[in-house]
Amino acid sequence: MINMQNVMELVKPPDSSDVVECNQNSIKVPLLGRIHFVQDSQGRLFASCVLAYWVYGTFSTLFIILIPAYNDNTISWPVYYGFLLVSALCLMSFLRSSLSNPGRIPTYSETASNSSEWSRCRTCCQMRPPRSHHCRRCRQCVMRMDHHCPWINNCVGDNNHFAFMQLLAYAFLLSMSAFILVMLHFWVFPKCVTCNREAFYIKHSIWPMYLLFLLSINMMFMMMSQFTQQHYNIIAGRTTLELMISPSDVNPKHLQKCYNSYRELCGQGLVIFWWFPFGRRRPLFPATYSKV
Ligand SMILES: [Zn+2]
Ligand SMILES: [Zn+2]
Repeated sequence: MINMQNVMELVKPPDSSDVVECNQNSIKVPLLGRIHFVQDSQGRLFASCVLAYWVYGTFSTLFIILIPAYNDNTISWPVYYGFLLVSALCLMSFLRSSLSNPGRIPTYSETASNSSEWSRCRTCCQMRPPRSHHCRRCRQCVMRMDHHCPWINNCVGDNNHFAFMQLLAYAFLLSMSAFILVMLHFWVFPKCVTCNREAFYIKHSIWPMYLLFLLSINMMFMMMSQFTQQHYNIIAGRTTLELMISPSDVNPKHLQKCYNSYRELCGQGLVIFWWFPFGRRRPLFPATYSKV
């Protein structure tokens, strides 16, 4: 998902062909107005694949396994609604991490006391605080940039890192649920009684279930490895970029406690709200960029 060559390509100093392009990452949506959206064809393709997986995983599990099993009283309502809740939260965290500005650079007037440590970006000429990087795909400087993720077609930065972690967690839970349900469907659940066995999607469900098995087990391990890596970075207090540039910068004895690390990431508020991808994040330290 992340490799050193891509990272260095995205953050390397600009050459003479660089063009100053800023604030072009938005589209106008009816009723919603202008929202953040990175204009990158590769990113759109990758993000579409994630959405296609979500649609396929959710609806094939729902119509082939869950609804027939629920109508036959093979599964109870907490399983049924629990799956729908995880699926909805997965989609919302994807949209939140994809469609929010990853790290708007505050203006001097907002941060007068810290501006002495700032530097000027050589690509977009914007003054920026420490730990910011210019992303060539997003064509903007991103505060506390972690990395650019093509799968969400956006950077992961100060403002959407918590939503990205939620996405990894919910995508893992969704994939694990689908995987377990497919296993139960094959070997434990009895043949459905109340469903229409002549319906096309029931009669020919074997191949969609094989495909779901392969996709869900693959996604489950990918999400688990990404979440584990991100979790280590977070308790180390370093971004993915910083650890790639200076891997020896972390002393394992100095890892922060989980609670403090995630409080810094998710902002103020009760722990229960750390799990929800909606609502406004209130940074624990308004001047996060000064904490190196
Ligand atoms: Zn810049
Ligand atoms: Zn980016």
